[in-house]
Amino acid sequence: MTGLAPITFVEPRSYPSYAADAPALDSYGRRIDYLRVSLTDRCNMRCVYCMPAVGMKFLPRPELLTNEELVTVLRAAAAAGFRKIRLTGGEPMLRYEIVELVRAIKSIPGIEHIAMTTNALRLGKLAGPLKEAGLDRVNISIDSLDPQKFRQITRGGSLDDVWAGVRAADEVGLRPIKLNAVVVRGMNDDEVIRLAALTTEHPWEFRFIEVMPLTGVAGLAEEGVISTAELVARISAHFGPLEPYGQDPSDPARRYRIPGAPGKLGFISAVTDPFCATCNRMRLTAEGRLHLCLLRDDELDLRAAVRSGAGQDEIEQLIRHAVYVKPWGHGLPEGVLPTLRGMSQLGG
Ligand code: SAM
Ligand code: SF4
Repeated sequence: MTGLAPITFVEPRSYPSYAADAPALDSYGRRIDYLRVSLTDRCNMRCVYCMPAVGMKFLPRPELLTNEELVTVLRAAAAAGFRKIRLTGGEPMLRYEIVELVRAIKSIPGIEHIAMTTNALRLGKLAGPLKEAGLDRVNISIDSLDPQKFRQITRGGSLDDVWAGVRAADEVGLRPIKLNAVVVRGMNDDEVIRLAALTTEHPWEFRFIEVMPLTGVAGLAEEGVISTAELVARISAHFGPLEPYGQDPSDPARRYRIPGAPGKLGFISAVTDPFCATCNRMRLTAEGRLHLCLLRDDELDLRAAVRSGAGQDEIEQLIRHAVYVKPWGHGLPEGVLPTLRGMSQLGG
């Protein structure tokens, strides 16, 4: 290794070399092959569970990895065994040249699947070009079916634009479509039955996400969290017992189906029922830091390496090291909260 100073929070500061041409395994034997890439910390909405109303500071553009730097990092990640990329943010569709960026990522040898998590405000226009550039799927956030309430929760978002995005995604074949709602008690939990009922009419997967106590929204999250167990009980009381549906061990969602429905339900319960044992993912922030566990602060600075001229092999070694030292899981049960970043900087 050169005299780079690439490691910021991750210890140890010196590390062995890792075998190339093998999947990246962490020290607990978990295979890590899924990278969630935040393309920007900016957003055209201000969801109450994600960002505080005031006081957000955004990264100046020179702090972000350029598209070229990002592709360099992702080539190294693919060489380290990452196979699936999810583009997120902030709002990923605010990223400049997003269509060309998707095309470049899709052409990286080893990358098998690119998905995007989006608020869909711009998806009506971009679904076709993104599909053509190689995007495989989208997850769309939709927390309410009431336009007024949607506007309140998102502090200004238009539900019509989101539905236009869902329609466009369906038309161009960005399928299967997954819709996400963060459920907060007293905010939108009265809509859980209506939201679940969408799966009785459409072949979509509707995912209910427990609100997590990230920086800036910890108070709301602590007071508003509703357990998956409670949601399943409420939905079952209305529709009848839910049928368990094809669990994928690396998917954090517990999946069910309303009997006879064409769509599915998913429940993601990081707080009340963590899925750390089957975790297969890491995150890359918009300024190029590998963030090792969503709910911990450990990071490794890849931008420093890229900007000091590190080659692909060297970046691959750094990524393999970050994978190796990935923490087992989060510390919420012991009251350890992440402090460095909010969800809009991490991408969910
Ligand atoms: N802007 C895009 C969107 O909203 O889909 C992508 C970024 S957003 C940060 C990614 C995911 O994180 C969304 O599904 C959002 O609902 C979820 N999210 C945001 N804040 C959260 C929180 N405090 N707890 C749980 N999920 C959260
Ligand atoms: Fe923006 Fe997504 Fe956060 Fe809402 S959840 S403020 S859409 S980044």
